[in-house]
This record gives sequence, C-alpha cells and structure tokens, in this order.
Amino acid sequence: MRRTPALAALAVLSLALTACGGGNDSDTAAVEVAKAPTFAPGTTMAKIAKTGTLQAGVKFDQPGFGMTGLSDKPQGFDVEIVKIIAAKLGIDPGHIKYTEAPSNVREEILERGEVDVVAATYTINDERKKRISFAGPYYQAGQRLMVKSGNTTITGPESLAKTKAKVCSATGSTPSENIKQYLSGSDRLVLFDNYTKCADALRTGQVDAVTTDDVVLMGLASNSNGDFKVVGPKFSKEPYGIGIAKGDVAFCRFIDDTLAEAAKSGAYTKAWKDTAGKLDKSIPVPTLAKADTCS
Ligand code: GLU
Repeated sequence: MRRTPALAALAVLSLALTACGGGNDSDTAAVEVAKAPTFAPGTTMAKIAKTGTLQAGVKFDQPGFGMTGLSDKPQGFDVEIVKIIAAKLGIDPGHIKYTEAPSNVREEILERGEVDVVAATYTINDERKKRISFAGPYYQAGQRLMVKSGNTTITGPESLAKTKAKVCSATGSTPSENIKQYLSGSDRLVLFDNYTKCADALRTGQVDAVTTDDVVLMGLASNSNGDFKVVGPKFSKEPYGIGIAKGDVAFCRFIDDTLAEAAKSGAYTKAWKDTAGKLDKSIPVPTLAKADTCS
C-alpha cells in the first residue's frame, strides 16, 4: 500500500518521458505494410522479404533521430525511414531488428552483413563509399557547435582558436575530422564513441563545446533542461544516406523509389513531423531531394 504513490509517480514520469521522446511509440508504420510483395529472385529485397525480418542499424541515443526511451524500441526520424522501407518489403514494424550503430561501427556492421541497412544520421561521402553504398540522400544537415547556455565566447568555429576551447565529437564521424582545421592542435579535440558522452563532458566542464550535425545537437540541447545551446553558423554539408552493402544497385534503387513514393504520399513529411520536427520549431520541414545515382 505504501508503495502506491511512488508507483503512481513513476507512471506519470514514464508517460512524460515517452511524450518527450519525440517518436511514434505505437510501433506502427506511417505507410501501409505491403501484402506479400514479390521481388526478382536473388535480389536483397527478395531475400529480406523471405526472411520476414529487416535488420537495421540506428542510433540509440540521439533524440529525434534514433533514441531508445523506456521501451527498448528506438524512435526517431531515421527509425521512421527504416519502417517505411520495411513496409514496402512486406515487413511490419514489429519485425524490424534494431542494432545500435555508433558512428564508428557503421561501415563495419554493413560489411560483416550484420545489418541490411544503416539509417543513423549517416553522411554520404566518398571515403565511406569505398566500403559501402548509400541510397538517398533523404535529409541534409550541417555541422554546428553546442556550448553551455552561459557561454558567450564561443560563437562559431573561428572562435575556437582564440578561446583555446576543448571540443568533443564522436570517433569516426565527419564533424570530428572537419573540426581539426579550426583547432590548432588535436590535443584540444576529445573523442568518444557517442555524443551522449560528449554532452556529459560538456556538463562537467571537461570540454567547452560539442560539435556534430545541427539536428543532432538540437536533440541533445532540447533534452538538456536548458543547460546547453546550439551556436554559430552551419559550417559543413551533411547529406544523410541509407547505408547498404557495397555495390547493391538494385537495393539502392528500391530504397530511392520507396522514399520518393513516401514523399509523394506525405508519409515522409509525417515521419519528420512525428519525430525530429518536434525537437526545435526553428528546423524547417524538409523536402526530399533528388536521389544520387546508385553505384
Ligand atoms: N552525419 C555525421 C556523420 O555521419 C555526424 C553524425 C554522426 O556521427 O552520426 O558522421
């Protein structure tokens, strides 16, 4: 009996946390799941449809894009994109197997065949294309900086040299490479395997700034109780792609067609509005760009 108020408080808290997660918690797809679709024999689509499970690498700690809350099901825009692809393969959201894909392991898990797709705030670039292929782009982010709310000296990448700022980013990410040109010595660059650890380092004062994509930072800032703010201009272009096995042109085209269809039906916009669109009203609702050539 004496436990009841505490349990009730916990229930309220869990509801509140779920509400903050910015996701589609009902585990339903924004699009209808295709009924027994058929694909050319030997294709990745045919293989996945036959197994009835889509294996997807996503982030688990990035609010708005891929975030596990109290349930172990991740939520976010990237997760919704995965659900849209799965639906076209005849797979309902309950049959998607999610694997955590920190920045530094994304190519590796695709190469090893541990996942069919990686949708994890994953920038398309030539270096990565040596090992894997990308469908998309389906979003364009840009690198920025996040600092403590009281900080007035760090105002953009150029201010990092003057202030001798220590900057945190994630190992294997594009922003961790791009930031080096603004830091005179790499001893002022602190790397962790994910951005949650960078946010903790910012909170404790171990670093003065965190750098990665604007939308990733906005997710962290929006979950910081006002402790952090995102500052300065965007100083890179980060087109997000769906990572797939290298050279799988048919699968790439299938994903591109599926995304184009989702853009047309409104499912793409709904996916955004249900997730990342809730983080920060200043982020415009994206429109799907023309897909790159699959190779
Ligand atoms: N989009 C950048 C990248 O792929 C940064 C975000 C991340 O690390 O996931 O490296």
